[in-house]
Amino acid sequence: MKGPILPGATVGVLGSGQLGRMFAIAARRMGYRVHTFSPDYDTPTGQVADVEVRAEYEDLDAVRAFASKVDVVTFEFENVSSACAEAAASLVPVRPAGNVLHITQNRKREKTFLAAAGIPVAPFAVIDSLAALEHEIGRIGRPAVLKSAGFGYDGKGQAKIGPETDLGAAWKAVGEQEAVLEAFIDFECEVSVVAARSLTGEFAHFGVVENAHANHILDVTISPARVSEAVRRDAIQIAHAILAKLEVVGVLCVEFFLEKSGRLLVNELAPRPHNSGHFTFDANVTCQFEQQLRAICGLPLGSTRQYRPAAMANLLGDLWSSGTPDWQRVCSLGDVKLHLYGKAAARAGRKMGHLTVMADTAAEAGERVRMARDLLRR
Ligand code: AMP
Repeated sequence: MKGPILPGATVGVLGSGQLGRMFAIAARRMGYRVHTFSPDYDTPTGQVADVEVRAEYEDLDAVRAFASKVDVVTFEFENVSSACAEAAASLVPVRPAGNVLHITQNRKREKTFLAAAGIPVAPFAVIDSLAALEHEIGRIGRPAVLKSAGFGYDGKGQAKIGPETDLGAAWKAVGEQEAVLEAFIDFECEVSVVAARSLTGEFAHFGVVENAHANHILDVTISPARVSEAVRRDAIQIAHAILAKLEVVGVLCVEFFLEKSGRLLVNELAPRPHNSGHFTFDANVTCQFEQQLRAICGLPLGSTRQYRPAAMANLLGDLWSSGTPDWQRVCSLGDVKLHLYGKAAARAGRKMGHLTVMADTAAEAGERVRMARDLLRR
């Protein structure tokens, strides 16, 4: 198709979680139709899409049938196989392109790409055997973190290696599969940049945000991050370089460790909207999901201006442990925005929704969003 893909056209989303749901809401608001593809039914995305296709990602005939009914394909999680992306790309544009998926869905490829591009990352080594681990730990030093190269192991693919940790046990913990050994970084804080690149190479970002994690899962994001102007400039420049180098058409999130010295190290890339950009749904002129839509449809990017400092708190399944959270109490706070993803089963650690609050400062917004979340507990 030549020229932009305009409202009224149909966008296909591979994947059916909350990122696809919020993308579909943004797309439908602008008059696009949305089809979603995943092995599940009555999904967060399917509930708000025009069409929900249920098939396995390995079923390439089903992927082609899906692609034949849409004008462009995007994805909402990065574990879509190259074969699946290629099957769709034989019929319509896939944005971001399959090579971006290929690099970012594997830690070895991602780290190697970043290092080769001159982007600062934590010291690392590629590990393919226990012997390699025993050798490389001498160079990387302890503490370190061993992470399986492939994703999709439900957080099971990581092992921290402390002064006493048995290397054989760590190698077992990551499934005795290809892995990346990383120096453990004693960081000041974690920050991220969600940014977009259009078909014509235009770049836009949502600033630098500050992320607090709990049990390896994002807990609270505040925006803007409380960092120096120099750090802010560096983070955005690094994000720009990564999107340009990968020729991303769409949205990509760069997660960083900020060292106490002020140096930024890239931890991870996500080639799609990201949990740390959810606040943009309520707090920015254009949200990250509309930005993804604009980019993949060949439209100009929207203004990323943030109205006020904001904070987002995740609502994990754990909140449901003593019954349904007290929605009424949180709805009595007129300035708190409640987002729920339509998931039926609340399991511990499962992302069920989030809250967003704006305030005069990011720190205040952070305090208020945590207070609001506390009100939900029974
Ligand atoms: P990841 O799955 O690689 O994003 O790791 C999840 C979280 O674990 C990060 O957000 C950090 O809080 C922590 N983490 C991962 N790698 C390291 C590291 N090399 N040094 C210190 N903390 C880490």
